[in-house]
Amino acid sequence: MTATIIDGKARAARLRQEVAAGVAALKTARGITPGIAVILVGDDPASQVYVRNKNNACKEAGINSFEIVKPATITQAELLSEIKRLNVDARVHGILVQLPLPAQIDPEAVINAIDPAKDVDGFHVVNAGKLAIGKPGFVPCTPAGCLLLLKEQLGNLSGKHAVIVGRSNIVGKPMAQLLLMESCTVTICHSRTEFLVQETRRGDILVAAIGKPEFVKGHWIKPGATVIDVGINRRAAPAGDDGDSARSNESAKTKAPSGTLVGDVDTAAASEFAKFITPVPGGVGPMTIACLLRNTLQAACAIKGVAFPLA
Ligand code: NAP
Repeated sequence: MTATIIDGKARAARLRQEVAAGVAALKTARGITPGIAVILVGDDPASQVYVRNKNNACKEAGINSFEIVKPATITQAELLSEIKRLNVDARVHGILVQLPLPAQIDPEAVINAIDPAKDVDGFHVVNAGKLAIGKPGFVPCTPAGCLLLLKEQLGNLSGKHAVIVGRSNIVGKPMAQLLLMESCTVTICHSRTEFLVQETRRGDILVAAIGKPEFVKGHWIKPGATVIDVGINRRAAPAGDDGDSARSNESAKTKAPSGTLVGDVDTAAASEFAKFITPVPGGVGPMTIACLLRNTLQAACAIKGVAFPLA
């Protein structure tokens, strides 16, 4: 079997157009322009690229993007007071703090200082709790994007066995909640899972969110399964490569760190077993940004008491 590639880039482009239309309608009808504040602490090159890509995507969708850059030496108290300021800034409907943060800052304290109504990343404990009990709130962008791809490819997910490798708060756990809400039977695997391959081979749907390059091998996949590769791992560039290869990445218009991107799945080998598979790059990554735009429009609508125009 040679798997069909799930084109995340094309799906994300459609979602971005839908968001842009929603933003334009909100401006025309109510004079409201959604705005997001993106806080970048320090000068990690990969984070800089992610933040610029997010800002560019916001601008293209007509969303105001306020980029706030802070030195790596910022104290937690200073960062918290910045968030406090943004929580009451009427131009700002969404607040995103780019992770990781420097060691002196507790990311949980920072995330939970964001007004849950502006928590467009969906990481705040209030939004995580809402997702856990099936109430509307902000859903983390990466698993939300994965779910959109799965539903578009497979339609009704009810009764399917979904296996997720990874149990992080930002990908694995919310992915499990979302698939459970779709009435999948969900197995969550992690670094202590015994007989991992036996588990992954049971998945009609396999989501890999591990952070290890090409970790999932072909024979780990149930024949005919749908594979969602969340991983983004940078492989060192061969000597002499100035980073051009990495600029084939999702939407990098700025100079990216050098190296090529690979996922958590050995795509070529997995394609021999899977029916559908997401590529890296061009799969989940573009969906993450598109869902961030969607969440920002959702935040602006909710704060202003306007019906959210998207499905
Ligand atoms: P994370 O917080 O490091 O979590 C990794 C998970 O993988 C953990 O639950 C860990 O288990 C599990 N794991 C590690 N080694 C394992 C092993 N040998 N066998 C089974 N499970 C193992 O990572 P994350 O933030 O969820 O991100 C995962 C990947 O997705 C990374 O490559 C990241 O760059 C990528 N990512 C992509 C996007 C996107 O937009 N495409 C967004 C976010 C993240 P334990 O809990 O037991 O340690």
